[in-house]
Amino acid sequence: MDGIRKITPYIPGAQPDFEDMIKLNTNENAYPPSPKVLEALEKADYRQLMRYPSLTNHELKEALAETYGLQTDQLIIGNGSDEILAFCFLAFFNSRKPVLFPGMTYGFYKVWADLFHVPYQEIPLQSDTFEIVPTDYFKENGGIIIANPNAPTGIELSKNDIRRILAENPDVVVVIDEAYCDYGDESVVDLIAEYHNLVVTHTFSKSRSLAGIRLGYAMGNAKLINVLEAVKSSFNPYSVDKLAEVVGTAAVEDQSYYQEKNALICQTRDRFSEELAKLGFQTLPSKTNFVLTTHPQADAADLFRYLESRHIFVRYFKSPAVLENYLRISIGTESEMATVIQVIQTYLQDIL
Ligand SMILES: *Cc1c(COP(=O)(O)O)cnc(C)c1O
Repeated sequence: MDGIRKITPYIPGAQPDFEDMIKLNTNENAYPPSPKVLEALEKADYRQLMRYPSLTNHELKEALAETYGLQTDQLIIGNGSDEILAFCFLAFFNSRKPVLFPGMTYGFYKVWADLFHVPYQEIPLQSDTFEIVPTDYFKENGGIIIANPNAPTGIELSKNDIRRILAENPDVVVVIDEAYCDYGDESVVDLIAEYHNLVVTHTFSKSRSLAGIRLGYAMGNAKLINVLEAVKSSFNPYSVDKLAEVVGTAAVEDQSYYQEKNALICQTRDRFSEELAKLGFQTLPSKTNFVLTTHPQADAADLFRYLESRHIFVRYFKSPAVLENYLRISIGTESEMATVIQVIQTYLQDIL
């Protein structure tokens, strides 16, 4: 038939559902949301659910504005940061010049570029270290999007390197996807005051334990955010439901709970990386809640299936080819990661 679109979709990690499973395949948080979130949900007035939700998300914007030292017109809320990032492609990447992003990064960037007919160029990572090379982004382009820390490598680019990329590209929008910044060294949100071309996106799905509620936001100067609001209004003005706003606001207001849990996850991650090293794994230096790891004598696909048969779910990427022998393992609780180490140890004893 004529006029039917062919699409190669993004393939999210599976959502298996076993009572005894250890789920480490989609970088969800190991811990439940703050108890204050449950309290807020219990107090929410279900009788108001016959009304459409807020168009402005003012309550949640106020809480976020206070947290980051911004004005509410420097913030837009969406149905997960995936929605906000898709809006960024529609709002900012309309040049005929290619949008630049790393050759290995969040797989959705390429999917959106194709979906919205945005020309793009993938910039290879440094081949030995898997690092982003800032100077590769000093050339003509129609916009830049970088996940920082990057996924699935887990490696963080310094604030100074982001600053250089912003300064070299004053005429295009540079989107920094900080989905994992709470597990890293520093956010670049404070550079918004200095660089009119910077948009930073965050999600509630990882460090705020709310992947199930679908909330994300972007921050930038009011002019750019206004364009994002116009795209949102042209697509789905009510994309954030009433309960999501209630839950999200409670989460933002309980910073201390999340700071404690984030620190715990970073500790578990570093300990897990050390244990992997003792077993002969080579693990990239992660600033996220996952690690990308490889073993010189073990076949990653085989280990993946072995773990799966024991209801331990991790992520194996068939492409790009360089990831063929890597596994991406999200960081769970201390006891979950201790079990994973035991199971991997048994596997290695069997094959080596
Ligand atoms: C998880 C993730 C997102 C998407 O987050 P949602 O808010 O759940 O849509 C965006 N970017 C990166 C790099 C991620 O890992």
